[in-house]
Amino acid sequence: MGNVVLNRSMSEISKMKSYYSGQIIDKLPPGSIFAAKTSGCMITAYKSGKVLFQGSNSEVEASRWGVAEASKPSTSTKTGSPKGNLPAGFSQLSVIGSDEVGTGDFFGPITVVAAYVRKEDIPLLKELGVKDSKDLKDDKIIAIAKDIKSIIPFSLLTLKNEKYNQLQQSGMSQGKMKAILHNQAILNVLDKIAPVKPEAILIDQFVQSSTYFQHVKNQKAIAKENVYFSTKAEGIHLAVAAASILARYAFVQYIDQLGETAGFKIPKGAGSQVDEAAAKLILKKGCDILPQYVKLHFANTDKAMSLVNKKRK
Ligand code: MN
Repeated sequence: MGNVVLNRSMSEISKMKSYYSGQIIDKLPPGSIFAAKTSGCMITAYKSGKVLFQGSNSEVEASRWGVAEASKPSTSTKTGSPKGNLPAGFSQLSVIGSDEVGTGDFFGPITVVAAYVRKEDIPLLKELGVKDSKDLKDDKIIAIAKDIKSIIPFSLLTLKNEKYNQLQQSGMSQGKMKAILHNQAILNVLDKIAPVKPEAILIDQFVQSSTYFQHVKNQKAIAKENVYFSTKAEGIHLAVAAASILARYAFVQYIDQLGETAGFKIPKGAGSQVDEAAAKLILKKGCDILPQYVKLHFANTDKAMSLVNKKRK
């Protein structure tokens, strides 16, 4: 009988509370926000952000809500696996990993890549410099991406700005867009490598797994066998690191192309430099061009417009 402790934000805890709304217990332990009882698991969420899962089914129940952080004051030291819900020795399995880039950038698309890394290829990929892309500069990422794209099977999906804006305006959340793209990219890779099957599929986690499957439930096909979610998954298996590098490469190339059509360099991110660049673009080409370049619902759109208005005065 195991215990699992997760540290979660208040908004995530309120999601949990509504998820367990049918199983809430009236009597609250001191300091707790809610307590619920499922078959085989007692769940208690505290004001500190700690959520305690107790009972024979605690690991399964906790895994709905992502993995425990490595720094957590964990009681479980029994397995060799550093991440709660993943099979032991996970980093050495043959895995499809998937990751996305561009979700926080005002300019440019969302790029999602799923990539298959066989265990036999892990040493070679390490040799080629594949690791967490957050530790890598763009020029290095481009060099590695060029090396690995002919070695590993992968699928790249690019959600261009115009389509993104249409979906967003129709009421689709960015989380749902991402889930649909991840699912499709993974299916594409499964198709490519068939009849071989991966030992596991690891998605760099951006929502709770229950939300993910809710998002994709109306898709024609859903990859769900051996699917795992983890935050910081790039550091857990090279397949996610490779996917991330390929997704960033595609994103950087796309931004460069946008810069060529705009006639000036397009900045990444969502800071004040993108407001300036968008204002410049509007002054040069008019407002109508904006949906082809940016994610319109970002606050940067209004900031850019007020810069334009100031400059026109
Ligand atoms: Mn990610």
